Amino acid sequence: MKQQRTTGRTTKSLLVDAAVLLRAATFAADKHRHQRRKDADASPYINHPLAVACLLAVEANVQDEALLAAALLHDTVEDTETTLIELEETFGPTVRGIVEEVTDDKSLPKKERKALQVDHAPHASVAARQLKIADKICNIRDIADCPPADWSKSRKVEYLSWTEDVVRGCRGANATLDAVYDQAIKKARRKLGIEA
Ligand code: NDP
Ligand code: ZN
Repeated sequence: MKQQRTTGRTTKSLLVDAAVLLRAATFAADKHRHQRRKDADASPYINHPLAVACLLAVEANVQDEALLAAALLHDTVEDTETTLIELEETFGPTVRGIVEEVTDDKSLPKKERKALQVDHAPHASVAARQLKIADKICNIRDIADCPPADWSKSRKVEYLSWTEDVVRGCRGANATLDAVYDQAIKKARRKLGIEA
């Protein structure tokens, strides 16, 4: 299906099936229905996957339907009882594969998981590398604008630096996303009063 997408200044064609994306958004909203983000207002969790998919489609002009669906679903396996088999049965093997690539093994300690993200990033598919960057952009925007309520400045600084290590391995998949990340981290550091 061909749709018209209106951005601030221009109207572009978006060659994706709206029904697939609405199905993915509805599925993710149901799975995350009892979860909240870590900000002081405890925003609904679904705001985050929606922001990641929106960033890819609107700011990076991504038209890959499987990638946009995977963005909506990217935290369902890691943070809810959703299984990869369920994703494959509902959305097909391509979407399942992208989500699998961005899903941490929660049986490992947090520190190890964070190190593995850095190690795995350069070996990930082009789709997964774009999703990883978009996820990090949204999280650093949140750190700047609506951070976890109990995080010290040093924890925020540490988080921002870690995203740089992950994103280093994701670069080259989408030049627009690389640039949006660079702007976002600069802005977040400025807001926190930190020099790079
Ligand atoms: P977490 O991984 O626990 O939290 C960050 C994640 O929370 C994000 O990646 C995001 O994941 C999700 N999230 C939910 N709400 C928000 C929000 N409002 N803003 C940003 N992210 C949000 O934390 P850390 O990355 O800090 O990982 C823990 C590490 O921190 C450990 O390795 C530990 O050693 C260290 N640590 C450091 C401290 C310090 O003061 N320096 C103190 C305690 C721990 P998603 O996209 O998946 O939702
Ligand atoms: Zn996420």
